[in-house]
Amino acid sequence: MKGGKSDNRYTGSLTGIGMQIYLNGKYCSREEAKVSVFDHGFLYGDGVFEGIRAYNGRIFKLEEHLQRLYESAHHLLLDIPLSMEEMAEATLETVRRNNLQDAYIRTVVSRGPGDLGLDPQKCSGSTVVIIADKISLYAQEYYDHGLSVTTAVTRQRNANTLEPRIKSLNYLNNILVKIEATQAGVLDAIVLNEQGYVVEGSGCNVFIVNKYGELITPPIYLGILEGVTRNTVMELAAKEGITVKEAPFTRHDLYIAGECFLTGTAAELVPVTSVDGRAIGGGVPGPMTKKLMEIFHNYAQNTGTPVYS
Ligand code: PMP
Repeated sequence: MKGGKSDNRYTGSLTGIGMQIYLNGKYCSREEAKVSVFDHGFLYGDGVFEGIRAYNGRIFKLEEHLQRLYESAHHLLLDIPLSMEEMAEATLETVRRNNLQDAYIRTVVSRGPGDLGLDPQKCSGSTVVIIADKISLYAQEYYDHGLSVTTAVTRQRNANTLEPRIKSLNYLNNILVKIEATQAGVLDAIVLNEQGYVVEGSGCNVFIVNKYGELITPPIYLGILEGVTRNTVMELAAKEGITVKEAPFTRHDLYIAGECFLTGTAAELVPVTSVDGRAIGGGVPGPMTKKLMEIFHNYAQNTGTPVYS
């Protein structure tokens, strides 16, 4: 991006040589994996996607991710030409063919090639892509010392425009937030909805620990993507005896929080230690955040759908 500040984010592909990509029922090389310029995914962002992780030879929360993919597609009246079981198998096979133990999987279903008009009925059939690669979103230092974030001027779109629960290929709102963060010299920004309530990050959910030691995350109805990591963290925290609440909170609640962290498949759990220049919890990752990071890590390493059995 021109005019953007460079930083030490690690993004993008770590592998690539000999990579096998699933494209419409066939496995092909990175070079062969080509999609039409008439695909409405390209022309209009018409499609859905998922980001899924595999840890230690198992796909983490595969069913939950596929459920969200199919729900997003259902809302958009987008046909997925595979049953959920077939999609699960294609996902496992893609990881297998790339011989990966730990992976970041990108599943994309777009409306497919059509003409230059909007009408999805004129598209010849959905395009399905599964890429298994690696991702490392933030450098280790941010997991150790926490992330500084800002709050974004760009607001969350409301559910009557493009429902934030749909994980669609239309990520422009999120990209605008990411650009704001980059221009502010930080790695992510917190998004508020039209009412000023905190909703999420550019590609992750947000949690705070309030002064009563309760773990709070925004409810789905405020306009968030219902994160698989978010739901897992809520469950794991409850099992630890932590009081977990889905409740609206504001920028002020964020500033005065004892702890804050972000969750996402790519980011996992990352502490936030500064928001708009206000130190959170003394500017260091808090004890509950650190504990949940450890519990999540252990859980993720030991659960999921086996790839190689
Ligand atoms: N919110 C948004 C906007 C996202 O893109 C993501 C990443 N999928 C999340 C939250 C976190 O969701 P998950 O934990 O399922 O990756």
